[in-house]
Amino acid sequence: MVRVRYAPSPTGMPHVGNIRTALFNWVFARGSGGKFIVRIEDTDRNRYVPGSEEDILASIQWLGLDYDEGPIVGGPFAPYHQSERTHIYQEIAHRLVDEGKAYKCFCTPEILDAMRKEQEARKQPTGYDRRCRRLSKDEVKAHEGDPYVVRFAMPLEGVTQYNDGIHGLIEFRNILVDDFVMLKSDGYPTYHLANVVDDHLMEITHVIRGDEWISSMPRHVQLYAALGWEPPKLNHVPLLMGPDGSKLSKRHGAVQFSDFIQQGYLSDAMFNFLALCGWSPGDEREIMSREEIIRDFSLDRISTNPFVFHHDKLKWMNGQYIKRLPIDEFVEAAVPFLRKAGIVAEENLDYARKVIPLEQEKVKLLSELPELLSFFFTDRIAMDEAAAKKWQGMPHIGQMLDALIRSYTDLERFEPEEIERVTRDTIAWLGVPNGHVIHPVRLALSGRTTGPGLFEMIAALGKERTVARLEQAKRSLL
Ligand code: GLU
Repeated sequence: MVRVRYAPSPTGMPHVGNIRTALFNWVFARGSGGKFIVRIEDTDRNRYVPGSEEDILASIQWLGLDYDEGPIVGGPFAPYHQSERTHIYQEIAHRLVDEGKAYKCFCTPEILDAMRKEQEARKQPTGYDRRCRRLSKDEVKAHEGDPYVVRFAMPLEGVTQYNDGIHGLIEFRNILVDDFVMLKSDGYPTYHLANVVDDHLMEITHVIRGDEWISSMPRHVQLYAALGWEPPKLNHVPLLMGPDGSKLSKRHGAVQFSDFIQQGYLSDAMFNFLALCGWSPGDEREIMSREEIIRDFSLDRISTNPFVFHHDKLKWMNGQYIKRLPIDEFVEAAVPFLRKAGIVAEENLDYARKVIPLEQEKVKLLSELPELLSFFFTDRIAMDEAAAKKWQGMPHIGQMLDALIRSYTDLERFEPEEIERVTRDTIAWLGVPNGHVIHPVRLALSGRTTGPGLFEMIAALGKERTVARLEQAKRSLL
């Protein structure tokens, strides 16, 4: 059975590329009837950022990536934490020391520093020179009680090869790989040790992770061999980059996953877009449901090239998803954004529910709604100055406002078709072009030159507000 894991380190708020990798794992598990496991790799105590674990878990939950296992048997599932499993890694590290496949290194930070400086001065590559690997038993004994780290004894010759599920054959010359630290002096394992041990003990069948981990391949493959374990199938997926070809970063727009949530992307749109960040279904499809993605996802359609992340494309896709939402769902998704902006509260919720749908066709991000809809919620319309100048003092404006105030007041059913009918009657009666009524009326009611369809907008404003705003306009447009 397929068993995959998402193994984030709580060292900061998650990057969108990291969550994309979680999604690939989850989709792969769901499509193959396998299990998806979440393991928090929190053994680097110096880089631990409080709150980041919560943010990571909230992000995957928001996307709907549920997990199937954890230390609490029977659920509700919590993720595994490596910091609770340190005894396991310690025991394994010491076993490798006993077998001569790893060794204790007593070099102090000062010694390592001097070593590096000397190497730099001699223009040699820097790295640990393996001096403690050559210590005799007696010399080791003499260090008893001294702080130490455990280093892995890499083979000194030959190459380490691996047939990556995505990149094919990858190889590294062993001599260029240093004797990496497995266990630190504080007793915590490094990423390499804990990751390999847990992937084995948790019976992970496929590792799907970002390309930045390719360089860890020789260390991991050698560690598996030393432990007599079969490695899982390693698959390195492309990194995300900005349109300029550099690593996707703040410069290119939002990159922290929580920023996307705050900007008002929908979970389904984000899911769809992230699935296509490095994977493709092999045809022209872009809008794909979760079910389709799960059904069609396969590792062999993942690209080996870095993937260019276009925020505009994501925004477009979000707009497509917003358009397709049932009106009620759109309204429910929008309300929190308007509440947060302070323009909607309990007392105007019903009114808000009427005006929100007017932007469903056009809006791309829910966070755009407060600005787009703000004029509905104010008593003081601030008119676009240039547009106001254009209409101010035009001879028909006074008559037009009076006629419309009258017709609207008399309307029994204050609905778009009726509003349109009496407005068109007024236009005909005035004998002016359509725009000479439509535009100044929009300006009077919203202060703006663009916005939702005029008659729907008037209906949503309601009779009272509409009439009051037209009255108000007499003061500024006449
Ligand atoms: N803890 C690593 C990370 O933060 C895991 C990498 C892996 O999947 O092996 O991404």
